[in-house]
Amino acid sequence: MNKNVILEVLMKCNRCGLCQEVCPTYRVSGNEFAVARGRNRLIRMAIEGQLEFDKEPEIEQFINECLLCKACETNCPSGVPTPELISQVREYYTSTKGLPIAKKIMYRGVFSHNKRIDLVRRLAKVYQKTGIKTLVRMTGVNNIFNKADDMLPDLPKNSVRGQLPMLLKNIHQPKYKVAYFLGCSVNNFFSSIGVATIKVLQKNSCQIIVPDVNCCGAPHNSAGDQREFKRLAIKNLKELAKLDPDAIIVDCSTCGSILKEYVGLFENEPEYQKLAKQIAEKVKDISSFLIEIGFKKEMGEIKARVTYHDPCHGVRFLNVQEAPREILKSIPGIELIEMNEADMCCGGAGSYSIFYPKLSRQILSRKINNFKKTGASILATSCPACTMQLSFGMKLHELTSPVKHPVELLAEAYDNKAK
Ligand code: SF4
Ligand code: SF4
Repeated sequence: MNKNVILEVLMKCNRCGLCQEVCPTYRVSGNEFAVARGRNRLIRMAIEGQLEFDKEPEIEQFINECLLCKACETNCPSGVPTPELISQVREYYTSTKGLPIAKKIMYRGVFSHNKRIDLVRRLAKVYQKTGIKTLVRMTGVNNIFNKADDMLPDLPKNSVRGQLPMLLKNIHQPKYKVAYFLGCSVNNFFSSIGVATIKVLQKNSCQIIVPDVNCCGAPHNSAGDQREFKRLAIKNLKELAKLDPDAIIVDCSTCGSILKEYVGLFENEPEYQKLAKQIAEKVKDISSFLIEIGFKKEMGEIKARVTYHDPCHGVRFLNVQEAPREILKSIPGIELIEMNEADMCCGGAGSYSIFYPKLSRQILSRKINNFKKTGASILATSCPACTMQLSFGMKLHELTSPVKHPVELLAEAYDNKAK
């Protein structure tokens, strides 16, 4: 978008203030510049020359503190695409000033390379299991590293990719051939989700291929690093184009919506856009896919009260809302209870919780308090980034309730039948 187009879009904001009702950063801060209306006003003032993007650090702060959760856009009567405008400004900052060093190390240095993520997971596992953690903590260092450490779950010994030879089976007369897009968070930090996805798909007569993909590029995109985002997108598109599956399955709402966003990313490159469209049509959230194929209902019991948190990328980007709830309701013994503000962002937003911990924790506490009011013993969600944030919230609130993907509960219910 050029300046004139951005201005035209900004003019659509009639300042009604309806975005205040749904914007998580405004709900916890009460600050007018922490809501879509205020953020849009800052962008407009900068474009019209009343403020300067580069000379007012507060503008950058309010722009970066947006969660890109899309709640404002979904509820805006004028359809102002605030997250898109925010992304444009972030792209401007990244292209003129470069990525901040911590983000550069984390995103380009680690997330862009599967082998490096794997190495970091292994090192972090050693760190968690030995006395090094206590020693580091005793130094009292309060830095980005410690904030990331606070958030990390108890890491699995093996990545999902490392377990594939044991997990993948040849299915006799499969009904579907599916590609499983194994994202880096599930692969490295929440392998139990990936294992459950594979088991459930195989139980439902799917022959699975796991392509050798990279990170979807979500962290790079959210930081405005469009160059690296494109590089990763091209690699993934080429890898997925080698296959001809019935569906490309995602168990991470973020990966799913980013794979679909590749279409817009290549709006000026028709060759890649054509490919991106073909891929996007096949991308399916695991719960939606299972409902679509009429998944097997022979299950054992799980006696629990469960409530569901809608990941922003699930409910507002992929339009997935009912399917995970249908899966949960189908499990004998599970009582599904709705919580207040189930679709409000949890404050995780990728690495937002590491870089903006104060706001993130305020938003998280609101979510956990809503969870507590349900009396549920399990919090279900369909995004590993939310799982990390919500599990951290449980720790902060001294709760022991697990955070589970619906597919993990479904896999457990299948296992319970077999016992
Ligand atoms: S809801 Fe939309 S039109 Fe209303 S103030 Fe917010 S951004 Fe502007
Ligand atoms: S995207 Fe979310 S955090 Fe950002 S302005 Fe809109 S509602 Fe607020």
